[in-house]
Order: sequence, then C-alpha cells, then structure tokens
Amino acid sequence: MTPSDLSVLSDFLKPSGITLSAEQTEKLCFFYSLVTETGKSFNLTSITDESSFVSRHFADSLAAVGLFDSGAEVCDVGTGAGFPAVPLAIARPDVSFTALDSTEKKTMFVTAAAKRLGLVNLTVRTGRAEDFCSLYGKFDFVCARAVTALSPLVELCFPLLKTGGCLVAYKTPSEKPSACANALFVLHGRPEKEIHYTLPDGSSRVLYVLKKLSPTPKGYPRKWAQIKTKPL
Ligand code: SAH
Repeated sequence: MTPSDLSVLSDFLKPSGITLSAEQTEKLCFFYSLVTETGKSFNLTSITDESSFVSRHFADSLAAVGLFDSGAEVCDVGTGAGFPAVPLAIARPDVSFTALDSTEKKTMFVTAAAKRLGLVNLTVRTGRAEDFCSLYGKFDFVCARAVTALSPLVELCFPLLKTGGCLVAYKTPSEKPSACANALFVLHGRPEKEIHYTLPDGSSRVLYVLKKLSPTPKGYPRKWAQIKTKPL
C-alpha cells in the first residue's frame, strides 16, 4: 500500500475537518503492512486487499475521528487487530486511546504495532471489558466495532464511561437503536446522535452515539454468561 491508495480518505474525512499529514498517511500504510504480514501467521482480519482495507478498516475506523475533544480519554473495547483504535490514534495525536481486548494474542500484536508506529497516545490492555473494574468511570468515550449486539454492548461499555461520556457504537444501519432502549433505561443512558455515512466502497454505516447520564447502577455489568443469555 502506498500513500496514493489512501487518497480516497481525504474526501471521506472532509466533513470532520481533519486532514492527514504525509507522516500520518505513511503510518497508516505501515500499519497495513504490519497487519497483513502478521496476519499470515494468525488470523487478524479477513480483509487484506488494499482497496477494501482502506474502505472497511481505515475509513470506517476514522468515521468517529471528529467526535473527540482535544485531551479526551477514549477506550476501544474489543479492538481486535487495532480497529478503530490504531487509525484513530494515528489521526488524533491530541487524544489518549486505550485499546482493550480479551485475547492476548491480539493485544500483543497491537502493543508491538503501537511501538513500531511510535504511538505514544495509545495504551493497550488485555482483559474483558465487563471485568475491568480498574477502568470503570475513566473514559470520555468508549468506541466499539463488531463486538456484540447493541444491548449487550451498552452493558459492557457503559461502566467504563464517566458520567456524561458517550459510547460510540459502529454499526450497519440494519441494527436499529431501539434494540438497546431498555438497556439505556436500566443503565441510565440516552441516544445522543446518529451519524450515517457511506464508505468509499459504497457501503452504508452508522455511528450510534449513546450518552451515560448517571453512574451505572449496582449489580451491573453482570457476568458475560448472563449478559449474553438475558440481554437487557
Ligand atoms: N474491533 C475490531 C475487532 C472485532 S472482533 C474490528 O472491528 O475489526 C471482536 C473482538 O472483541 C475480538 O478480538 C474479541 O476478542 C473482543 N471481545 C469480545 N468480547 C469482549 C469483551 N467482553 N471484552 C473485551 N474484548 C472483547
């Protein structure tokens, strides 16, 4: 991948007011090579061709790039190979990111990639979001892409937010926000906004921004087995 393969990103990013420098573009290209090289020894992503990678991983990850205030603390729950955390950390050096995943193989990859990319604003943690008590109440934003359905996602992610903070759920428009209406009621949240967008390859996506209005009630989050079998 070369910087010219990323030219579609400048149009995509226009509404956010963010422009990528040559150095940031180089870093995205380098991250592509790290993911695809390491992905040969264990499965990191099924998307490897350059143009799909730019659309499905880079543009999609960067859809939220304009949402964060400078100095914000952002957690990416279920980061996998580093999406959306790594592209966001490259594009927003003024924001602090924590990439969290329960699979150590993946967090080891993201840790090594962050080091090679010189991303001092990205910290990587291994563990399950619902068990990570030391991170509760710490974040202005929690992002999550392709982790679980909206209702369980709200239960996994809300405890990590400060009161007044927002969950940014990366979704396809087929999943409606009404799916988490009860979870928001129980966990004291409300839909803040929906941002619909089209990826450079023409696919439709949406960010559901869900605000935490007051501290998470006692007893939540429940254990994963319960969250999964009896979603709110
Ligand atoms: N966000 C990435 C990866 C999605 S795959 C992307 O969009 O490409 C889902 C990832 O979430 C997996 O790596 C899995 O290990 C992680 N995960 C699932 N449940 C989790 C939990 N409760 N806490 C932390 N990570 C979780």
